Amino acid sequence: MTSHDHEHFEILMMKQVDGFIDAAERAELQAHTTDCATCRAELRSFTDLKTTTDAMRQRLLDDVAQDPLRPDLPTRAINTVGFLALVSAAVLCCGWIGWLVWTDPKIPEILRVGLLLAGGIGLGVFLNVLRLRLRAAPTDPYREIDR
Ligand SMILES: [Zn+2]
Repeated sequence: MTSHDHEHFEILMMKQVDGFIDAAERAELQAHTTDCATCRAELRSFTDLKTTTDAMRQRLLDDVAQDPLRPDLPTRAINTVGFLALVSAAVLCCGWIGWLVWTDPKIPEILRVGLLLAGGIGLGVFLNVLRLRLRAAPTDPYREIDR
């Protein structure tokens, strides 16, 4: 068998594996693989590879069907209410601490203003990072890797 023949039969094998082979090509390939052990083994390895990748594809599709990237409405509603409750608690706690600092006559006024500014900026940054992390978690493409 020349390398040209080998390329020809490799193309037929690919068509066979992908389901694009016609009847005449199938008969030609079948006649050849009956006689040629090398091509028979190669066709079997291509077929095995196709079976494996089809199974992987089906598993990925099943995963997406079972666990959609966007949660359903009740889950999103619970997440939103929980997030708003957390934000409210954080704002109330920081507001209470801010009020204690602001009304403490023993703390110099410049220090009170500085502490409240730093606290407000810190709270804003914390809440924004928390919001971004929570929003990114359900669509993180790498969460599938641990499965
Ligand atoms: Zn051959």
